[in-house]
Amino acid sequence: MHDISRHVKKYKVLENIAKIDHLTGVANRCTLEKAIIKNWQECIVDKQPLSFILIDIDFFKLFNDNFGHVKGDKCLQKVAQTIEDCLPSKDSLVARYGGEEFAVVLPRSHVSNAEMIAKRIQEKILNINFRDIGLPANVKISVSQGLACEYNNQYRTSEALICAADTALYRAKSEGRNKLCIR
Ligand code: GH3
Ligand code: MG
Ligand code: MG
Repeated sequence: MHDISRHVKKYKVLENIAKIDHLTGVANRCTLEKAIIKNWQECIVDKQPLSFILIDIDFFKLFNDNFGHVKGDKCLQKVAQTIEDCLPSKDSLVARYGGEEFAVVLPRSHVSNAEMIAKRIQEKILNINFRDIGLPANVKISVSQGLACEYNNQYRTSEALICAADTALYRAKSEGRNKLCIR
């Protein structure tokens, strides 16, 4: 008989590295993609809606330029935590999509419900303060968001749903930022 507890522990550490974004502690891109595929299939079969939000921090390059990348990293952690705190159920997921972009998957969530959640995220992010990392109280950030919802076979594939959210995000940026657009 071998004691496998050491291997189990190591496996769990490696599993975490594979699934979690190291900086922010939320799901990574790989976990996101698996979640989208799984929820896409389930929602189509059950004729349930599936909402998807893309969130991009506004003028984040400027934040790094002004305060440095270490504080920029702290900012990403705060944003990730804030989004996570706004999510309704353990079915929903926030993931780091890349860089200063996050994605939210909301299974069984109609567009009206997803809009409410996105607005809450918008508001909570505007209220983040950075005094604990030594920045003045007037330093604030905002996000732009693109939301799309699959319901009644509106989109043929999960990629099309993501593209729709991306298009909406692009519109939020071009219409001045700190804004939610719905596709
Ligand atoms: P926009 O409002 O158009 O989104 O402007 P932006 O400055 O947020 O967008 P841009 O794509 O020009 O810059 C994104 C910045 O995000 C640049 C990059 O250095 C920063 N960034 C990406 N990943 C990280 C990270 O892990 N840590 C830090 N500190 N910065 C990051
Ligand atoms: Mg970006
Ligand atoms: Mg940005």
